Amino acid sequence: MLKSFSPIIILLIAAFYGYQKYPLLPVSASIGITYLIYMLAIIVAGLSIRFSRNVVFYYALLIMVTNLALRSGWANGDLGYGLLSAILPLLLVTLTILPDRGVISAKAIPAYAILLLAATFTVIVATMSPAWATYLVLTDWVPARYFDWTGQAQSVLIVSFAALYIMLTLATLNPSLYLAAGCGILFTLATQLHFGGEERSLNVFSGAALLMCLYAIMQETWRMAYLDELTGLPGRRALGEKLQRIGGTYSIAMLDVDHFKKFNDNYGHSAGDTVLRMIASKMSKVSGGGLPYRYGGEEFTILFSGKNRQEAARHLENLREEIANKPFIIRRAGRRRDDKTGSPDTNKSIRITVSIGFAESNKKVLSPWDVVKLADQALYRAKGKGRNCISE
Ligand code: GH3
Ligand code: MG
Ligand code: MG
Repeated sequence: MLKSFSPIIILLIAAFYGYQKYPLLPVSASIGITYLIYMLAIIVAGLSIRFSRNVVFYYALLIMVTNLALRSGWANGDLGYGLLSAILPLLLVTLTILPDRGVISAKAIPAYAILLLAATFTVIVATMSPAWATYLVLTDWVPARYFDWTGQAQSVLIVSFAALYIMLTLATLNPSLYLAAGCGILFTLATQLHFGGEERSLNVFSGAALLMCLYAIMQETWRMAYLDELTGLPGRRALGEKLQRIGGTYSIAMLDVDHFKKFNDNYGHSAGDTVLRMIASKMSKVSGGGLPYRYGGEEFTILFSGKNRQEAARHLENLREEIANKPFIIRRAGRRRDDKTGSPDTNKSIRITVSIGFAESNKKVLSPWDVVKLADQALYRAKGKGRNCISE
């Protein structure tokens, strides 16, 4: 959770610093930044469509619509400004929780409809300024002195904080980079509106919000390239890059699930996937600083930097035992949770075991991939010895 938030927080701090220093910029630089922001928006929109990061596309759209509305001076009146400031957080939350929307597809119609409706509503109400709208948006609900730190209407603050609360709750319940970015963008846009919609705050905070979008897309692309989808462990590409850089003493282990084909045949592929996840989670807690990778299929690799094979053996034996001693509970295939018929206890407890082969580096003759090969040969010896054991 903190990990996905930290780059967003760094961008926010940089934005506040940039806002402080902005008046020192020459006019030409500030014009340049204005155009850089348009270009950044086009890049973010293009990448989010290319990588199907739909929610980021809508975040970027909100950022730019707000930016252009404020830049055009359209929302200069108190009511227009207040309405825009209150509706923006609501739209951001709505677009976040709206399920599976495309960008260029029929599925996207609800999202565009909501945006269009909100924009039309804002424009009409701001132009006609009916008494109820002025009352709802601009009334001071509590004594104004509590809010002398901002020019924003109290209703706007209430809506903004409520929206931020919802986004933070969503991000806590389901930690994801997009939700972290969504929280950051919401806070950044609210700050932009708090500082007033003039060029300085627009350039700094729209820029920061777009960079948050860009970060979310890039980070997600990195995750797709380097992390295995099923287990969340780094995959073979990550292992390859790590091995290119490794030096000194190290040990490499290859781990393979025993009789896994039979397990899949008996209990189904999705139970098999759950087993792989369980093993990955045990592997990521391996002692001795071992780095786990999913090599492919039901085979995993563990890298012990700075450890010789005796040291690695100790940690690997612990891991093997840990996996072998953890019962794996399976519901009988085809039986529904609410099925009251059949035998009283159809849950079955199964022991999963793994075999592990390992080898140590030898600077003079072996490349890291040779060590992997030796570990693989050792793995076959472990299988030959009867499985559920380690071998060098
Ligand atoms: P051994 O003890 O000799 O390793 O026997 P084994 O059955 O585990 O060996 P084998 O290599 O023949 O079988 C590997 C099986 O792993 C075959 C394949 O169905 C299964 N497998 C590979 N990747 C996945 C996966 O991502 N999910 C599931 N559920 N099964 C997988
Ligand atoms: Mg295998
Ligand atoms: Mg196997």
